[in-house]
Formats: sequence, C-alpha cells, structure tokens
Amino acid sequence: MNKVVLLGPPGAGKGTQATRIAAKYNILHISTGDIFRKNIKEGTPLGTKAKEYMDKGLLVPDELVCDLVEDRVMKEDCANGYLLDGFPRTVFQAEHFDKFLKEHGDELTMVLDIEVAEDILLPRMIGRRVCRNCGKPYHVITMPPAKEGVCDVCGGEVYQRADDTEETVMNRFKVYKDQTSPLIEYYTVSGKLKAVDGAKDPDDVFAGICELLGE
Ligand code: ADP
Ligand code: ADP
Ligand code: ZN
Repeated sequence: MNKVVLLGPPGAGKGTQATRIAAKYNILHISTGDIFRKNIKEGTPLGTKAKEYMDKGLLVPDELVCDLVEDRVMKEDCANGYLLDGFPRTVFQAEHFDKFLKEHGDELTMVLDIEVAEDILLPRMIGRRVCRNCGKPYHVITMPPAKEGVCDVCGGEVYQRADDTEETVMNRFKVYKDQTSPLIEYYTVSGKLKAVDGAKDPDDVFAGICELLGE
C-alpha cells in the first residue's frame, strides 16, 4: 500500500502529476486545495472560513486541516493507498500526521519533492487555468484545453482561480518558503524524501517519479 506525499512550491506540477500517479499506482488522489474549493462552492462553514485565508494566499489554520485529512485517509477508498497533494504544508501538520500514522502502526512510503526554480514558477502560475469540476490543471499557452474554456476530461468549465493573480502568487511563494520548505529538512531527516527535477516537461517528470516509486 503506497502512502505518498507530493511536496513542492505552488506551480511545481503537483496537480499535473498527481492524476497520472494516482491512475498508474491505483491510489486515491487527495488534494486539500480541491477539498477547500469544493467547500467554498457548496457554501459550507469550512469553505467560508478557508476562503478568508486562501484569497490572501495564506495557509488555512492547521486545526482546520489535520483532522480533515486524517478522517479522509481512513475511508474505504484509501484502502489501496493515497497520494497527498498539498498536505502537509507546515511542520505542525507533518508531525501531526506522522503521529496519527504511528498510532495506526503505519508510516509514509515516500515524500516526492518536485523541485522547480522560482523564475520558472511565476509564468506557470499566471497562465494556469483549472477545471471547476474535476480540478485538472491547464495552461493558457503551454497546455490549453482542446476547446477554449472546456475541460478535455469532463467538459467542466476551465477558469482562472481567484488566488492565481500575480500579487497573491507572490504571497504564496513567500508562505511556501517560510512555512512549507522546512518540510524538506523534516523529511530528509526521517529518510522519506526523494527529489525530482520538475523543470522538465511533464512526461519526463512523470518518468522520474515512476523510477522512484517503482514500476
Ligand atoms: P501545483 O499543483 O504544484 O501548484 P500544477 O500542476 O497546477 O501545480 O501546475 C501549475 C501550472 O504549470 C499549470 O498551468 C500546469 O499546466 C503547468 N505545468 C505543470 N507541470 C509542468 C511542466 N512540467 N512543465 C511546464 N508546465 C507545467
Ligand atoms: P497550489 O497547488 O497552487 O499550491 P492548492 O490548491 O494546493 O494550491 O492550495 C490552495 C490554497 O488552499 C493554499 O494557498 C492554502 O490557502 C489552502 N491550503 C491547501 N492545502 C492546505 C494545507 N495543507 N494547509 C493549509 N492551507 C492549505
Ligand atoms: Zn474537468
């Protein structure tokens, strides 16, 4: 059973790779960002709280995140494993999750760190569009959908996220550096971290990931 974490700055390609990894290894893709956006769309109390932070490019407080993910991975559809995309994002979350796994006699299989330099990330983020229905990422220049504004996979509306403006993206890079990048050290110490070069084209990045996860 594979329990994999995808780590990397905003725009590294976590969402892009996650769908392919989940399909190949038959594990469930869990994106905390997608869960929050779904809650916002449905107008739940969690969505209302999360939106305040997301719109500013800030992290949603740890206490709203940890139980959510820990409850999610206990569900039946995670029995064959899961791929966490966007969680953990703080050392607190990582420690909380490790403790949770340990209580179940379990541990993470691997943490994949997708490495991309910041000058490459900004144009990716500014040009990013996503499907409102299934979350699939596109790019206006490098990876547009076949029909403008329509998702190739599900026919959903392809739109620009409210937090993908230049100003908010710059905030998110700073938040990543301050609060999330310490996880690289954290998972290096625990021996879980494997790095992949995320500057290559998506097929090559995927090939690198498969080499690490095994065929
Ligand atoms: P993350 O989930 O890490 O924030 P995404 O998977 O949403 O990143 O990708 C961010 C943007 O960069 C999207 O517009 C996507 O189409 C594009 N992208 C993803 N991977 C690559 C890549 N290897 N090369 C070029 N562009 C990419
Ligand atoms: P990206 O892939 O572009 O980095 P996500 O979709 O993963 O963005 O996350 C969007 C926003 O959702 C984040 O900026 C943050 O506000 C919130 N978020 C997602 N996951 C977490 C988490 N594990 N902890 C705190 N906030 C989170
Ligand atoms: Zn879609």
